[in-house]
Amino acid sequence: MRAGCDLHDADASARSCVMSIRSILIHPDPRLKKVVAPVAAIDDDLRRLADDMLETMYDAPGIGLAAPQVAAMTRMLVMDCVKEENATPMPMVLINPSVIWSSEDKSIYDEGCLSIPEQYAEIERPASVKVSWMGLDGKDVQETFDGLWSTCVQHEIDHLNGKLFIDYLKPLRRQMITRKMQKLKREMARG
Ligand SMILES: [Zn+2]
Repeated sequence: MRAGCDLHDADASARSCVMSIRSILIHPDPRLKKVVAPVAAIDDDLRRLADDMLETMYDAPGIGLAAPQVAAMTRMLVMDCVKEENATPMPMVLINPSVIWSSEDKSIYDEGCLSIPEQYAEIERPASVKVSWMGLDGKDVQETFDGLWSTCVQHEIDHLNGKLFIDYLKPLRRQMITRKMQKLKREMARG
């Protein structure tokens, strides 16, 4: 997503001692095309992964990140679509999320993806969705999302099903972006 988020410095330094930034997979990568398995148990490893994913997302900066993007093949995503400067961050962790209702109304956002850097496209999705998931405390949650939050949660749930925003584009455009990413990866590999 194009929008970014900033943590206050104090928060960032307090968090840095326990969290670490994981590297984000860049498309094309077979791990970004997999339907990932549900989380079976909430344990320390999963909590650690959630913390690291939030840290990685804020650092990027981005507003959403799905576990497969950091090569963790499990159904979890994090997001925080609060964009206003000085607004309180609203980090969310969604385990085994699924869309249980979509509005007929559509909305169009200029989407991007941390796994497809510097590429954006207008994608049409339901304007509102109701999502059900499990929180890190093991409790079931249901919530309706609108606006940017709705686009973001749909984009991230797509990741858990091996789907990228460019999969909504016409093949020619998708291939063009994929070739750019292949070139970027070759350049990154060379250092
Ligand atoms: Zn993405």
